[in-house]
Amino acid sequence: MTKLAEGGRCRWCGRRLSSPVGSGRPRQYCRPGCRQQAHVARKLAAVHGLGEDDVIVDRAALEELQGALYCLEAAVEDVDRDLAGGATAGEVAGALQWLLENARPLVVEWRVAAERLAKPASPP
Ligand SMILES: [Zn+2]
Repeated sequence: MTKLAEGGRCRWCGRRLSSPVGSGRPRQYCRPGCRQQAHVARKLAAVHGLGEDDVIVDRAALEELQGALYCLEAAVEDVDRDLAGGATAGEVAGALQWLLENARPLVVEWRVAAERLAKPASPP
């Protein structure tokens, strides 16, 4: 099994952070643009009475994410049930395929969200 790389993720866009060079404070952002976006977001949040870790999410995007998570949850339950009593190699392959089909939309969502966050905010 492949483990996720050690280290944290960018607090703004969620990309994995590269290994720190030297001994200093651990990095929180993957690049200066993310640091700047996070700074602007903190200032806007404060102006609107939101906490530093509060986020505002587009309702449609949230519902799309929830739908994808629901499908993944159902697929995991299907696979757990299918593999519970032992399975042939073909059944395992089919279960893995089903799981991947239901996991891939989340990967796409993740990449789209990361790209959106990586872009500088456009003025209102
Ligand atoms: Zn980043």
